[in-house]
Amino acid sequence: MSDCIFCKIVAGQLPCGKVYEDEDVLAFHDIHPFARVHFLIIPKQHIATLDDCTPAHEKLLGKMLLLAPRLAKEQGLDSGFKTLINTGRGGGQEVFHIHVHVFGGGDPVSRS
Ligand code: AMP
Ligand code: ZN
Repeated sequence: MSDCIFCKIVAGQLPCGKVYEDEDVLAFHDIHPFARVHFLIIPKQHIATLDDCTPAHEKLLGKMLLLAPRLAKEQGLDSGFKTLINTGRGGGQEVFHIHVHVFGGGDPVSRS
């Protein structure tokens, strides 16, 4: 998807603060963190929303979710973290390339 910012990050056309990468998945710090630690886990393939997922994506989604606790601990979130998947405009989704928010630690900070 040529106009998708997360596809551009995957392609190396936009910078990111990389947290993790493998052949299927990329994780990077959110540019407007709403907690001390806030990163996103995305698939390298373009999938717009959770609502576009099919049973064919089961393994990929499982991989993304299982990475959350591992990467959260690596980022210092030893006592727990939150996960969030916004789906569709009504779900507050702004970037239409599926992503899992992982965040926690300290007081929430302003997004402005
Ligand atoms: P959502 O509302 O779930 O679609 O959230 C999209 C998230 O992507 C927001 O928290 C943004 O701050 C974040 N974001 C947008 N552009 C970038 C970027 N270039 N690098 C890192 N995070 C981004
Ligand atoms: Zn994309």
